[in-house]
This record gives sequence, structure tokens and C-alpha cells, in this order.
Amino acid sequence: MTELPPCPECASQYAYEMGALLVCPECAHEWSSDSTSGESTDATEQIIKDAVGNVLADGDTVTVVKDLKVKGSATALKVGTKVRNIRLVDGPGDHDIDAKVDGFGPMNLKSSIVKKA
Ligand SMILES: [Zn+2]
Repeated sequence: MTELPPCPECASQYAYEMGALLVCPECAHEWSSDSTSGESTDATEQIIKDAVGNVLADGDTVTVVKDLKVKGSATALKVGTKVRNIRLVDGPGDHDIDAKVDGFGPMNLKSSIVKKA
């Protein structure tokens, strides 16, 4: 009786297992399920650390430690910018933080360029 998690890309409920991978039939995303059979914790346990090694959690406030070019924006995200209420995600590439940045709107950030505030 294992409930498969929804697709991290499109949240489709129809993901199915293929070997060690989970496959989404709707967006063709493939990812690995780390759940060891038997005892499964409710959430996927991904530990995401900031630039100095602090473990980040949903809802944390972080500051940006590196100037960042923002796609589609003339302004760069500056060092010291506060980002509130982050959400940890399994984003594209190293982008493992989903957050709304004042003046920029929702964007994906890399945990390696932020520091827990
Ligand atoms: Zn999908």
C-alpha cells in the first residue's frame, strides 16, 4: 500500500514506478524515490543547506549572499536582500528554494547563494 508522491514538476497524481525511478506520464519527468520500502516518513527528507552550512527549512528567512542577475529584470538581486518565507523545492538544476522576493516576485533560488537570517 504505497502511495506515490505527486510529480514534483507538474503535481500530477499519476506518477508510476519504473525500477528505482518514478515517472510522470503527463510531463515525462523522471525522478528517484528515496523511500525505502516499509518505513516511510511522511515527507521526502531532503536536507538543504545554505552557503555556510545551516540547514534550511520551509518558512525560513534568508539573505542573499551574492549579487544575482535576474532573468527578465534589469535590476540584479543584491547581496543582503532579505527573502522571507522560503519554500524548499526540488527545482530545476540547483534551484532548491522557491520564494517571493520583494520587487521581483516569485523566483527560484539556489541554497548556495543564501544565508539563513
Ligand atoms: Zn509531471
